[in-house]
Amino acid sequence: MTQVANPNPPGLTAPINSQLAQQLYKDLNRQHFEDKLPECRIEISARLTRTAGKIWPRTRLMRLSRSYHELYGPAELANTILHEMIHLWLHEQGLPSGHTALFRQKLEQVGLGDRLRALPIPPRPYRYLYRCPTCRAEVQTRRKINSSCGHCDRVYNPRHRFKLVRQLNEN
Ligand SMILES: [Zn+2]
Ligand SMILES: [Zn+2]
Repeated sequence: MTQVANPNPPGLTAPINSQLAQQLYKDLNRQHFEDKLPECRIEISARLTRTAGKIWPRTRLMRLSRSYHELYGPAELANTILHEMIHLWLHEQGLPSGHTALFRQKLEQVGLGDRLRALPIPPRPYRYLYRCPTCRAEVQTRRKINSSCGHCDRVYNPRHRFKLVRQLNEN
């Protein structure tokens, strides 16, 4: 029940943080949008786990998944930012900012033609560590649980109810 925190070999990855994201945003703005996109707030989010990134063009806020980008690394961070920037680019022109034909055309132009969707989303991280008070077996879970240890009794038994040891701090 252990979990691989970051399968990228150390040294090959820059840390995934909003500073790096801002730098990439600036570079990509120059490269692909003639430096015309407005500044955008970028947050690396521990809560965004079901999608790689998300943008709110009206308020100029971009959220990028921490777990996703820690798995795939900085190159993929650039890909996600660029994808979200195209949404903003459309919005700034007063155009519908979804995955429209124009969106796909621009995606093609910037070399991400095959990347309308993100890479496979990693499983959500374990957040809680529980232990059976009787046999000391430990389990990691993504949600809070209310069950008892299956080793100690096959049906629910409050004597063997899992106790929360601690919250796992993956973020
Ligand atoms: Zn999109
Ligand atoms: Zn037990």
